[in-house]
Amino acid sequence: MSYDKNNIFAKILRKEIPCKKIFENDYVLSFYDINPQKKIHALVIPKGEYINLDDFNNRASDQEIVALSKAITEVAKILGISTDNGKGYRALTNLDDHGGQEVPHLHFHLFGGEKIGKMVE
Ligand code: AMP
Repeated sequence: MSYDKNNIFAKILRKEIPCKKIFENDYVLSFYDINPQKKIHALVIPKGEYINLDDFNNRASDQEIVALSKAITEVAKILGISTDNGKGYRALTNLDDHGGQEVPHLHFHLFGGEKIGKMVE
């Protein structure tokens, strides 16, 4: 499967459509999910063209991998849900068909602001 340059997050990265930005650096963009599933629902995505976490870990540079991982903690701090300044959160990423991935650009969901509940339905 090749990367679809017309997926919605690629359009957000190209600024063709807007987002409610939370955080940005050279490697990562974070913004609020358009259809929040919990009180706080943020997304953290790499700026590079990666379909999912497996694709990312196979092809991304160490710098990109470190940046994405650290950005999750940074965004959680900004949102006040981190283990340093809040009550914790859930970070998850869906991969492909069985994982239930809808947008084919790697993204981590950060859920917080309330108890998140059962891990899987
Ligand atoms: P997934 O099912 O893991 O691929 O999640 C895709 C997520 O992207 C869903 O939670 C959607 O609500 C979210 N989403 C789709 N379009 C947008 C958008 N334009 N801005 C922010 N979030 C979006």
